[in-house]
Amino acid sequence: MKETPFGPVYDNVLEGVGKTPMVKISNIDTGPCELYLKLEASNPGGSIKDRIGIAMIEAAEREGKLKPGGTIIEATAGNTGLALALVAAQKGYKTIIVVPDKMAQEKIFHLKALGADVRLTRSDVGKGHPDYYQDMAERIAKKTGAFYVNQFGNAANPVAHEKGTGPEIWGQMDNDLDAIVAGVGSGGTITGLSNFFNETAPDVEIILADPKGSILTDYVNTGAIPNEVGSWLVEGIGEDFIPDIADLSRVKAAYGITDRESFEAARDLLRKEGILAGSSSGTILAAALKYCRAQKKKKRVVAFVCDRGDKYLSKMFNDYWMYDQGFLKRAPKGDL
Ligand code: PMP
Repeated sequence: MKETPFGPVYDNVLEGVGKTPMVKISNIDTGPCELYLKLEASNPGGSIKDRIGIAMIEAAEREGKLKPGGTIIEATAGNTGLALALVAAQKGYKTIIVVPDKMAQEKIFHLKALGADVRLTRSDVGKGHPDYYQDMAERIAKKTGAFYVNQFGNAANPVAHEKGTGPEIWGQMDNDLDAIVAGVGSGGTITGLSNFFNETAPDVEIILADPKGSILTDYVNTGAIPNEVGSWLVEGIGEDFIPDIADLSRVKAAYGITDRESFEAARDLLRKEGILAGSSSGTILAAALKYCRAQKKKKRVVAFVCDRGDKYLSKMFNDYWMYDQGFLKRAPKGDL
């Protein structure tokens, strides 16, 4: 890889993972705060998950769990699958990717285009059910002898954020930062950031952005795991269980955000700031704005654009879909 004043020149696309840019919110009202978004959608696979895709595959190679030409299997909302399939294609591995059927079609098409063997399964069942995506991936792994990556229990996942995402944020903010707002899917991002900032700058507050219906908001705010799990349309974040790798002990507060708030925030982000971001980024932005607007004095805050919005053009960016889901009051006029 070569750095030039005009940008880096990579020997391989994987060298382009990480060192993502940040952009300051300039048109949306952020109260007394400065709010910066870390554009993880700039990663070559299009999401924050590229970081852990490389980290988990290289850890498995080092530990001898993955042999040349071997098969990788993962349960994913799509982005971890895209990251693994990208890395696997470069390194000559095969991939089987198990995805719940509520996820955007564009992710499925992208996975297939990368050569992944995609297995769709039900979105309406929980852990312990044979059709639950993680149970299904584990079962296929046992049957085929494929390497089950298991981002929810893989120690290399948070380490990628502790060693990569955390130091990048701290450096980009000139070591002057008050809070970070992030979501939890596997918990890798928040756990890695907690570990890094615990050592480097323990005063930095970690704030959770969580879809309404997920158990994590109540868990963080009350310490109890609620019996009831709801459902939500936002993709990639919110949980019905606490992942093994997730350490939420440093999370200061959690905001439960409705689908409507998430989608409106993502649509606003595009129209007012020109940033085309995915649905989880909408949740994170909505939570970050609630946090920022509640502050009494200026704070410097970082939030995430986890993936690109072009995967969701036929969903939350489409007025007809928004109307069908009940998020827009009036039917849109004009052509599809
Ligand atoms: N946003 C999106 C779009 C995702 O796919 C994910 C991971 N499922 C996350 C956020 C959450 O990241 P993490 O797994 O590190 O908690």
